[in-house]
Parts: sequence; C-alpha cells; structure tokens
Amino acid sequence: MKIQHIFFDLDNTLWDHRRNAYLTLKDIFKRQNVRDRYNLDFEDFHKEYFTINERLWAQIRDGEIDKDYLREHRFYDSFMFFGIDDRELAQIFEHNFLDEILNYNDLVEGAFELLEYLAGKNYRLHILSNGFKEVTYRKCELSGIKNYFETITSADEIDIRKPHPQVYEYALNKAGAKKEESVMIGDDWIADVEGGKSFGMKVIFFDVFNDNYEAEDVAVVKKLEEIKNYL
Ligand SMILES: [Mg+2]
Repeated sequence: MKIQHIFFDLDNTLWDHRRNAYLTLKDIFKRQNVRDRYNLDFEDFHKEYFTINERLWAQIRDGEIDKDYLREHRFYDSFMFFGIDDRELAQIFEHNFLDEILNYNDLVEGAFELLEYLAGKNYRLHILSNGFKEVTYRKCELSGIKNYFETITSADEIDIRKPHPQVYEYALNKAGAKKEESVMIGDDWIADVEGGKSFGMKVIFFDVFNDNYEAEDVAVVKKLEEIKNYL
C-alpha cells in the first residue's frame, strides 16, 4: 500500500533541541553568574547536563519516572555532579529554561527543504512528540514549520509516551490515518523506531547522534535529505 501519512518526531528530528537548549542554558548560566559563584565552566556543565537529561528522558519514555521528577532533577543532579547543592539555582534554571528555549528555534539541517519536498509530493504530514504539550505546538509555530502539519500530537495529552502502541493509535486516529499507509520518522531508537515498527508502521531511523543501531525493515539515514530516497 502506498504511503500517505508521515509522522515526524519533533525534538532532534526536525527541531534542533540539542542546539537550542545549549544556547538557552548558556544565557541562563551567564545571567546567574554560575561561573564566578561556583567556579564552574559552562562547557563542562553542559556536557554533564546533556548526559543526565538524555538519561532522564529515557526513563520517562520507559515509564520509570514522571515529568515532575525530571523537572525537579535534571538541573539539580547536573549541579550536584560538580558538588553544587543548590536547589534554588536548579529551580531557577528549570523555570526559565522552558520559557526561554522558545527564543531559539534552530531547525535540524535540511528540515525545511525536506518538509517542502514532502508537501510538494502531497504527503500528509504530522508531528508525534514525546515532549511537553506546553511547548510542542509553540516550537512548531515559532520555528515556522507549523503549517506543514495537519496534526500535532504530544504524547503528554494522554500521558502515554512512545514507544507505547496507545499513543500511536491516538495519533493515527487524530490524523485519520491507517498504519499500513503511514511511516514514522525519528531519532529515538526505542520510542520512534521500535515503537512505530511494533505498532505496524514503516519506520525511518534518523541517526543524528551516530548511534549506529540497525534492524530488519528499518531504513537508516544520517542526514534528513537522504529521506528523499525513500519517499
Ligand atoms: Mg527526538
């Protein structure tokens, strides 16, 4: 059956979360004068934060922790790694981060061109994100890609995240799409690739961080423009 519906993950697939977060945190770090107060270098902090945040998001995906836990811990744990026990500072970071990250809206290289190409071929495009519903829609709007999508779904809406089949079911229902005519594209091997595949969709793995995973029936691309070879 011919593919008609394309579901995209948002963070790090289209919207460059890693870069936008880096720039946002750099601002807050500077404003809070962390370097002088705690003799801590931003690059060192950011490297640790990135690792901790990725781990916490994997735990959310796996149902081990909830969103509140992540929001309470990602900065606190990052500072604690450097022996800085400052809950107030961590809360300031958390509070400002979600607001301010929307000031940066860099897209992943090739995102616009790919969406334009797919829209030109009359595919029906959708977002299915595990991110917070407070920001998913606004990220699409502020980065200028909102109008490409017929539906924008945050797993948060039903509090069940990818890779669980219920959230795929929910998003496809919302889109009026059948799984046989749908493809999932994303950068998270478990949430996007294993989740989409076991639900019964075709999947394309965007290996943006060079994880080098592979599996049967999974197309792998390293750059967004390579997706044009499959659609
Ligand atoms: Mg992602």
